[in-house]
Amino acid sequence: MPEVTVQQIQACGVVGAGGAGFPTHVKLNAKAETIILNAAECEPLLHKDKEMLRAYPDEIIAGLEAGRKLVGAKEAVIGIKYKYADVIELLSKRLPAGMRIAELSDSYPSGDEFILVYDVTGKIIPPGKIPLAVNVVVMNVETAYNIARGVPVTKKYLTVAGAVANPVTIGVPVGTTYAEAIDLAGGATVRDVGVLVGGVMMGKLAASLDEPITKTTGGLIVLPRDHKLIQRYSLDWSAISRIGASACDQCSFCTEMCPRYLLGHPIEPHKAMRSLVFSHTGESSTIGTLFCCECNLCTMIACPEDLDPKNVCTQNKRRLMAEGRKWEVAPVESRPRTLLNNRRAPLQRLIRKLGLFDFENKGPLIADSFQPKRVTLPLRQHIGAPAEPVVRTGQEVKVGDVIARPPEGKLGAAIHASIAGKVSVGKDAIVIGG
Ligand code: SF4
Ligand code: SF4
Repeated sequence: MPEVTVQQIQACGVVGAGGAGFPTHVKLNAKAETIILNAAECEPLLHKDKEMLRAYPDEIIAGLEAGRKLVGAKEAVIGIKYKYADVIELLSKRLPAGMRIAELSDSYPSGDEFILVYDVTGKIIPPGKIPLAVNVVVMNVETAYNIARGVPVTKKYLTVAGAVANPVTIGVPVGTTYAEAIDLAGGATVRDVGVLVGGVMMGKLAASLDEPITKTTGGLIVLPRDHKLIQRYSLDWSAISRIGASACDQCSFCTEMCPRYLLGHPIEPHKAMRSLVFSHTGESSTIGTLFCCECNLCTMIACPEDLDPKNVCTQNKRRLMAEGRKWEVAPVESRPRTLLNNRRAPLQRLIRKLGLFDFENKGPLIADSFQPKRVTLPLRQHIGAPAEPVVRTGQEVKVGDVIARPPEGKLGAAIHASIAGKVSVGKDAIVIGG
């Protein structure tokens, strides 16, 4: 593969394909000792990363190698669960010098960057910092694939699972609707559905099936509307806060299971729950919530009372961040607590506890050439400033044309046409086709 530059990656609009969509050209414009490919994929029922590794091992290794060269890393590591022996074998035969595989446990949240970096390197990222603080860069599987392809990002891979006829992993034009993706999985098997976007642990409840798939949509989990997960995601903040304040018995199981607490970070969700009782606002006020990664383990697995410490922490964290509050105690070196390894949540236990056991836990990648007649491309599909349209309503575009760019000098990523057609420019999105 010819040498890849950050300028090419920027021109292709590559962003982190599995999380918040951090622009990849910025991430790789740094120096690090180690680059890790995050193939842990620990969200129940999602299969996109391992399916892509099975289908495109050479491209993904090439993308990781390009990233390794750009950051000047001595070593590239593919972090993947030990149980995917066939994928590990497939990759092992192809590894270039300076690249190795780290086998991970089948637990949640093994894909959390902090846990992944600890498992692979033994280093603990300090609270509130990013992997670069310990000389590491972490890259998503699909991001590596997009780097290797070297063309504008116009396609998105995702798993569609849960209450659908044929759980699958598909690659569709960015801007395809959730409803169209669910049809590609054979359609929903129940009439009244709720859809969790991105996963059952860290996803969000879809407001409408007409919402578009973006560069960061990793999966759609379709569930009956009366499923306990949909009910939980539908709870409003006042109910979460009121019930939490009255029913928390301060057992501290949420803290004992919290992966960031177990890494030695100063977060104790039971204290956030306790502070609900004393606040006059119905909100918690506990500075340690700044270090919550929103993994949801405390709520979904730990709490015996079915309370929602995750949302209590998240609500508090968002407010503290909006107020510009910071952790003001002198930083101390984090040390993992002795029970870190014993308190990992096995994925099978998670699937059972979440009421997902009846759904097929698979998502084979199917070859498809789905072409929607119309796509909606949000101007904000990444961290940073929303992209600004560079096309006008009525203009014809073809696949791969730039339709929006970040404002000059601002963090962001370009957006390209994912289908050919006539554009309609709106305030928050560009629509192509009719
Ligand atoms: S969601 Fe809960 S378990 Fe996860 S980091 Fe936050 S407080 Fe800890
Ligand atoms: S696990 Fe539940 S009941 Fe126990 S302290 Fe945490 S929120 Fe309260």
